Amino acid sequence: MIELPFPADKFSISLLDWYGRQGRSLPWRETRDPYRIWLSEIMLQQTTVAAVIDYYQRFLKAFPTLESLAAATQEDVINLWAGLGYYSRARNLHRAAQLLVTEYEGRFPEDVDSLQQLPGIGRSTAGAIAALAFEQRAAILDGNVRRVLCRLCALQQPPRSTASEKQLWLWTEQLTPVERIHDYTQAIMDLGATVCVPRKPLCEQCPVAFLCQARQLGLENELPLKQVKKQVPLRQQIALMVEKEGRFLVHRRPAEGFWADCGSFRISAWGKTKLPTGN
Ligand code: SF4
Repeated sequence: MIELPFPADKFSISLLDWYGRQGRSLPWRETRDPYRIWLSEIMLQQTTVAAVIDYYQRFLKAFPTLESLAAATQEDVINLWAGLGYYSRARNLHRAAQLLVTEYEGRFPEDVDSLQQLPGIGRSTAGAIAALAFEQRAAILDGNVRRVLCRLCALQQPPRSTASEKQLWLWTEQLTPVERIHDYTQAIMDLGATVCVPRKPLCEQCPVAFLCQARQLGLENELPLKQVKKQVPLRQQIALMVEKEGRFLVHRRPAEGFWADCGSFRISAWGKTKLPTGN
């Protein structure tokens, strides 16, 4: 493992000072309610803040509490999620809400290990909930933090390899301070989202540029290294659309597999699907 190339407190002090002046005001930042924080963290996976804000507010209007989400039908939850993509998130959210109500007396566990037992909550999301809702000293490693750390510490290996994964978790844990966890967690997310952005990082505005190894080496535009992409399997399908007097015959796909749980045109009674390749 590679040692952090600078003292952790120099990083957190500069970052927190910057966050105090430049931090974004977002709807889920005004609360410590684990339900709202969990919802925002799930919605923000693979999705930008700008796309999430409307969904977050509409979702909370329909399901203001954990209990109301648990009592909803999956169809209602998926319908509200429509357009946000990655629908397994909505299904897991619903399943986790039901589990929390039936097996956890409607209360979120406060530690990372227990949070990770819930559907749809990985290590980084568990860390974010523990830090933001319960002020636990828990580290996160989402896409933004991963990029920031690859540059700050000039990690010159593919960021998603097993070795990099271990290295990055070690650094993010070492950098997480013992106090002001809530602010620190928001701050490092903001740094990646607004300054250390994927293309052309804004190093002149960066509060930790004086520590940044990539900047010192002139590698800020080269890091993180590009991941070699896996070949995507090719899938071919033929579908028939069944319409009668302006109405369409639709049914929901199975809960597992390709486009799980999405509505689709029922074709089995009218023709055969053709799946020559892919899975
Ligand atoms: S100096 Fe530039 S590359 Fe380094 S952390 Fe800041 S924005 Fe990112």
